[in-house]
Amino acid sequence: MTLTFDAKQMAAELYDGGFRPMFIGGQWVAAQSGEVSETYNPATGAVLATVPLAAPADIDLAVAAARQALEGPWSKFSPYERQTLLLKIADLFEENWERLSVSDTLNMGMPITRTLANKRRVIGMLRFYAGMATALHGEVIDNSIPGEIVTFTRREPIGVVGAIIPWNAPNAASIWKIAPALATGCTVVLKPSEDAPLTPLLIAKFMQEAGVPDGVVNIVTGRGSVAGARLAEHPDVNKIVFTGSTATGQSIARAAVGNLKRVSLELGGKSPVIVCRDADIDRAVPVAAMAVFAHSGQICIAGSRLFVAREIHDEFVTKVGDFARSLRIGHGIDADTDIGPLISARQAQVVETFIASGQSEGAALVAGGTRLSGSLYDKGNFIAPTVFGHVKDEMKIAREEIFGPVISAMPFDTIDEAVERANASPYGLAAGVFTQNLGMAHKLVRRIKAGSVWVNMYHALDPAVPFGGMKMSGYGREGGIEHLHEYLETKAVWIQTD
Ligand code: NAD
Repeated sequence: MTLTFDAKQMAAELYDGGFRPMFIGGQWVAAQSGEVSETYNPATGAVLATVPLAAPADIDLAVAAARQALEGPWSKFSPYERQTLLLKIADLFEENWERLSVSDTLNMGMPITRTLANKRRVIGMLRFYAGMATALHGEVIDNSIPGEIVTFTRREPIGVVGAIIPWNAPNAASIWKIAPALATGCTVVLKPSEDAPLTPLLIAKFMQEAGVPDGVVNIVTGRGSVAGARLAEHPDVNKIVFTGSTATGQSIARAAVGNLKRVSLELGGKSPVIVCRDADIDRAVPVAAMAVFAHSGQICIAGSRLFVAREIHDEFVTKVGDFARSLRIGHGIDADTDIGPLISARQAQVVETFIASGQSEGAALVAGGTRLSGSLYDKGNFIAPTVFGHVKDEMKIAREEIFGPVISAMPFDTIDEAVERANASPYGLAAGVFTQNLGMAHKLVRRIKAGSVWVNMYHALDPAVPFGGMKMSGYGREGGIEHLHEYLETKAVWIQTD
């Protein structure tokens, strides 16, 4: 693909290894302790910047700023004014989309063609919730109590929202949490991942430039176990919106109990993809492959359990293997790259351990399975897209979230069996179905326990469509009107009028 701008030049200008302060109460500040951590380009190992490592006291400061803003001028912003602000942010994002995309690519490795392509998801979200800001309303309810009593509900902002996000899509994850907060009149303290904090800090600049009042959006960088944990337990935070692993989600839910703050959790997955024997194989192969390989498998919705009708299993899996070998693996900033690096050496090691377990448990390695070396790869964390066939349900690679480029393909004999095995997972985030039979598609959609089901496609997300998990993949929804309700409390009002 040819880019219309010089991504490498922009990358060179964007980060020079210097210090990037965090954003609290409208000020650019260091951590009170002065502690910093380095953040890297996972393709090259180069230090992009150092960022503050917030202590609990920094989180306290940010929460106080968010509380003050909530009770200050921000509470007087009309829905129309909040809408106007969101539209202004969207315009700034539009003007700076290339910078935002390059920033994401540099800090977390996703190919630039993909970060650029996320535009509709991110700017669309800002505009969708701008529209919703003036559409919020309560209801008038007829009551049955004798006398003249009017009852109605008000939808009020839930208050100070703590947002904690992972490293794998910082731009989108930030906006998917900030936009509904601004639409509803909440304030936010957002803690990015320590692995990819830079785009959220860039976003803070655009918030400031758009005129978001001080304290309404705060971005605090730091470790999960310190800054994240303080945010989750903070007595003056009303709600936590979290995206990340199931284990961290559980610890956040426990920490939130102290003040019974509301919690919504977008967690991990081990999503099944069912390929029926009547599927259009040549159309299904690239989609099923990219259901995992996009972003090197580092996506919560990765369709990593590939159930294929036994009659076509070998042909299908061979073609997925061929497709895997055809992918160009390289630095995300190169427009020709299909697959970028893994986020860290630690994550690459985790994936290698999974691959070794697949081999030792007897799965058939069809493609990949190796760490890449050579000049392009030596300083980054690159693993070849890997396909295992004839995997058994009980194998580790079929049960656990890998968060790497590994597909576990398994034959099935009957649809009932495929559904039962697809549902036999603690997770329930997403699923894919490939069939040309409409009745079969509907049957599978009804029976699969997952928050999103795609038929003859995968990966699509839209601001208007709710996204979230069932079972251990979490609770709450992002996107759509449902997401707004996560940021609102309902108040019932009774007025005696006689
Ligand atoms: P993670 O759970 O390790 O970290 C996520 C965030 O939580 C980070 O900001 C981290 O600093 C913070 N954190 C860590 N420990 C904490 C604690 N004790 N208290 C408070 N905050 C804490 O996840 P990750 O490695 O950054 O991301 C990968 C995981 O995220 C995968 O499991 C993936 O499936 C999941 N994910 C889910 C979705 C979704 O929408 N369902 C989207 C993307 C990623």
